Amino acid sequence: MSLTRNEIIEILKSPVAYDGKSFSDTDNSLFTAATATARALFNNTVYQRGVIEFSSHCRKNCHYCGLRSSNTDLLRYRLTHVEIMDAVETAAAMGMGTIVLQAGEDEDVNPHFIYTIVRAIKEKFNLAVTLSLGDHPDDVYRLWRDSGADRYLLKIETTDTDLHSLYRPGQHLYDRLNRIESLQRLGYETGSGIIIGLPGMTEETLTDDLLLLSTMGLDMIACGPFIPHPQTPLRHAAPGKLLESLRVTALLRLLNPATNIPATSALDSLRTVRNNDGRILALNAGANVIMPSITPDEVRSSYSIYPGKNDPALSQNSTVKLLQSRVQQAGFTLSSQAGSSMQRTFRA
Ligand code: SAM
Ligand code: SF4
Repeated sequence: MSLTRNEIIEILKSPVAYDGKSFSDTDNSLFTAATATARALFNNTVYQRGVIEFSSHCRKNCHYCGLRSSNTDLLRYRLTHVEIMDAVETAAAMGMGTIVLQAGEDEDVNPHFIYTIVRAIKEKFNLAVTLSLGDHPDDVYRLWRDSGADRYLLKIETTDTDLHSLYRPGQHLYDRLNRIESLQRLGYETGSGIIIGLPGMTEETLTDDLLLLSTMGLDMIACGPFIPHPQTPLRHAAPGKLLESLRVTALLRLLNPATNIPATSALDSLRTVRNNDGRILALNAGANVIMPSITPDEVRSSYSIYPGKNDPALSQNSTVKLLQSRVQQAGFTLSSQAGSSMQRTFRA
């Protein structure tokens, strides 16, 4: 489906009638159209990606993120090879078809460490592997691709060049875009996305984000709401809005029928979401992937990107089981397949 810039802006600006229980007729029509588009290709299948957050160290200082290097209140941890492989085993037992290795940009992790982990996952479990490890030189991306990594997730965060450089000090949008092109050239299934509702973002910015993301030939697009973290410069900013996040999910589905679109974990951290059902609402707005954290209980609450992520009161096992049962109760079928990009089949 094609939508003009003005049509998208109009949808994003349409009156907010969500009362916490039901949506307006206009929003319901949007979500129904997006779900129908997703069902035409994915039926009601939801792919499961287990995220192992193996290091909370980061050299960068992004204004929105609790892992930023200036946050001295955070317990920093780094998992060993054995601990990561134990988590992979747990993820496989829980039905995850993909392992996502995610971390801050940890200068003390040698690229060969990642190489060895990916090789071991492939040899022992033969699961798909996604890397979400930030900015690195092309030769490092090549090394990891040679290890067997299938996918790479690198979000552009926002296409507004000024906001991008403001919130990611020392970084430029064009460098991020160039890296995404490098990843695509190297043959990764490549994902990108944005944070919805960063301070200063307008509906026009968001529209430009959606239109750019939809022209990049991406295999995955991940868009979650901004959640303010108390130990960051954006601590007093308003969080992203639930309804806007759902509209973005639906619009992305209509613009990118075959792309994998996750129901992001940040949705469940919004205070406006009843019963932590944000991800279910996103699945009912066109998303087709969930990405639960499989990070071990001993450290999971220290991967504090934003408050509400990896609740210390709940174990990793019970968090995943709860999410899986909610997804099934909502009428979706959980899949343990890799859920590789349909976008490629579509493009070929
Ligand atoms: N360090 C890598 C990077 O930045 O690409 C990967 C890990 S980083 C924690 C993963 C994603 O977390 C970022 O791309 C960003 O979109 C998201 N994130 C960070 N802080 C956030 C916040 N306060 N609210 C919502 N999303 C956030
Ligand atoms: Fe580091 Fe990624 Fe957080 Fe930025 S978003 S501070 S690069 S972990």
